[in-house]
Amino acid sequence: MIPFNKPHITGKEITYIKDAVDFGHISGNGKYTKMCHRYFEERWGIKKALLTTSCTDALEMCALLLNISPGDEVIMPSYTFVSTAQAFVRQGAKIVFIDSLNDHPGLDPDKIEEVITARTKVIVSVHYAGVACDMEKIMGLAAKYNLFVVEDAAQAIDSFFVSPNGDHRILGSIGHLAAFSFHETKNIQCGEGGLLVINDERFVKRAEIIWEKGTNRAEFFRGEVNKYGWVDIGSSFLPSDIIAAFLYAQLENLAQIQQKRLLIWQKYHDLLSDLAPEFFQLPVTHKFATNNGHIFYLVINKADVRDDLIKYLKSKDIMVVFHYLSLYNSPYFINKHDGRSLPMSEMFSNQLLRLPLYYELELTQIEMICSHIRDFFRSNSN
Ligand SMILES: *Cc1c(COP(=O)(O)O)cnc(C)c1O
Repeated sequence: MIPFNKPHITGKEITYIKDAVDFGHISGNGKYTKMCHRYFEERWGIKKALLTTSCTDALEMCALLLNISPGDEVIMPSYTFVSTAQAFVRQGAKIVFIDSLNDHPGLDPDKIEEVITARTKVIVSVHYAGVACDMEKIMGLAAKYNLFVVEDAAQAIDSFFVSPNGDHRILGSIGHLAAFSFHETKNIQCGEGGLLVINDERFVKRAEIIWEKGTNRAEFFRGEVNKYGWVDIGSSFLPSDIIAAFLYAQLENLAQIQQKRLLIWQKYHDLLSDLAPEFFQLPVTHKFATNNGHIFYLVINKADVRDDLIKYLKSKDIMVVFHYLSLYNSPYFINKHDGRSLPMSEMFSNQLLRLPLYYELELTQIEMICSHIRDFFRSNSN
């Protein structure tokens, strides 16, 4: 059986966990947490990195830092994971879902301006499949209307926005705040884990307090204050140093993991390109974006054919999956939506298919998967 995903273990995880245990500090903000923070801050040129227990948690921290309160409006794509919206809903925000691009599941930046009101506070850019949103347009709108931008960079590690002048800016370093995921389905992982990135200086101090249950504990341990106490709202957003030790092993292998994932992605692309656009569309990487090999997906020309292909491949012991169900017409949200139709989001919900992509996937397995896909389309003439 070829599973859809298989979490990759680099080999050093247990060694580093043992070291963390032997070191004697396994609660949060220990030695490996600091090593992970340093990795991101030094290599990415960001102001502040804080590991969290998930990307969902990092997004919740964003909502707290931005003081989201009842009635505030947050603009985001409908084609995204529940957490992108949930983090803001919990603070009472009104979510304003917008549509995807015609050729990519990411948000259509030309749909933002028409939904901005006096209550709009935040735009959330979700970099689907690690492919950048047009951050130049989004940051331009944010500046014009005095809004904040949160990058949901859950899938976007080691990927870039390419400015018109050719400059590469790493995703997560552009918005005021950004959130990454290290869930086991992501490129690098620690089971469950996440990262909050703070690019706007104004949020640095408070982020550390919210992260540590609303206390100034981090400042205390740096010797900057002589006692610590309750100074703000917050929660326990920081992971154990055991988790950080696991993650550090993955970070050390990032380049190798990325190289392999891109190789797999390219192999799929090469082997399937002659079937497009007759039966499906291949994934698009815009000229302002790079590919980080997070997802290889096909957009099948007909929804019922997509569902038949899932069943067909399952009968061959190959697990392929669809992705997000559009959030605007979900059971929780349908009565809250303002009635705008979001046809592209709907289309990607019904027609997008993700193929297995994980470090251990072998080239011969990819060839086999692609030949079954070829048989399905050629013999059924679907
Ligand atoms: C995976 C994912 C999340 C949630 O990440 P967790 O670490 O599981 O909380 C949020 N947004 C997007 C776009 C994701 O892909």
